[in-house]
Amino acid sequence: MRIKGKTVIVTGAARGIGRAIAEAFAREGANVAAADLGSLAVKPGSDWHYALSAETELEMMANGIRERGGSCVALALDVSDRASCQNLVEKSVEAFGGLDILVNNAGIIKLGRIADFAESTWDRIFAVNVKGVFLMSRAAIPFLAKKGGVITNIASNAGKRGSAFNGPYCASKAAVIGLTQSMAAELAERSIRVNAICPGNVFTPMQFDYLVKHRLQQYDGQSFEDAFDAFVKDTVPLGRQQAPEEIADAALYLTRADSVTGIALSVDGGNGIGLS
Ligand code: NAD
Repeated sequence: MRIKGKTVIVTGAARGIGRAIAEAFAREGANVAAADLGSLAVKPGSDWHYALSAETELEMMANGIRERGGSCVALALDVSDRASCQNLVEKSVEAFGGLDILVNNAGIIKLGRIADFAESTWDRIFAVNVKGVFLMSRAAIPFLAKKGGVITNIASNAGKRGSAFNGPYCASKAAVIGLTQSMAAELAERSIRVNAICPGNVFTPMQFDYLVKHRLQQYDGQSFEDAFDAFVKDTVPLGRQQAPEEIADAALYLTRADSVTGIALSVDGGNGIGLS
């Protein structure tokens, strides 16, 4: 699909990987509906054990795109809420006259042992990471199907390989890969392509506000940035972290790749194959 002039919804667009994806599509001349918790950030249940994005972050991101000449609306969304997803899709279509591309990027994480993991936390991870992809896709499909479209789901290399103390998140991202393949098979006859991207280690707020503090104690005494860098050098074949822009490049590629559907594209420096 040619990107210029098309309309894309990006969820979790206020910061991190979602922000880079929204900005990349805007640079390519797409109309961007940038969706994140925004004004819903204070809603009970949207609070989390690390800060999710604030309303101002979404507005600032959208303003930045518009100041650079891009086309962008900022819209509040809770991907775990059916009515919110429906409303978001309708508002995006109203703003730009149609819908061509959906990037399901919003996601959350919490580490912990399965033996004492809270059921409510498990439910919240699946409500955002898995049900969110389902609800957003279901709301978008009728509009995408009008002229063929593209859905790209941000999964994770954690969805291809489980790891200790990360069971719920790994399981949720494996579910996203399964859902991606099923939707790709089902929607091909309506000319909708569906793929996943599996990022490796990207230094976003999810990483520096949470994961580095809880996972990298062996690098104690170093700054979060240095600890993350050392961890990546020690564990990833290419020894490099992934920039949010590299994930955005993959999303642009999958949008243009008219023969590609049902794949889970790792952008992880070889993390999935391991060091030995
Ligand atoms: P992040 O926490 O920096 O950004 C996630 C965004 O999603 C935030 O702006 C947050 O407000 C939003 N969000 C959370 N719950 C939401 C909800 N219910 N409705 C709408 N928006 C919601 O995280 P990130 O690192 O940019 O992660 C983006 C995606 O990439 C996630 O799906 C994550 O699982 C995945 N991922 C990240 C990494 C990494 O290393 N950072 C690696 C693999 C996969």
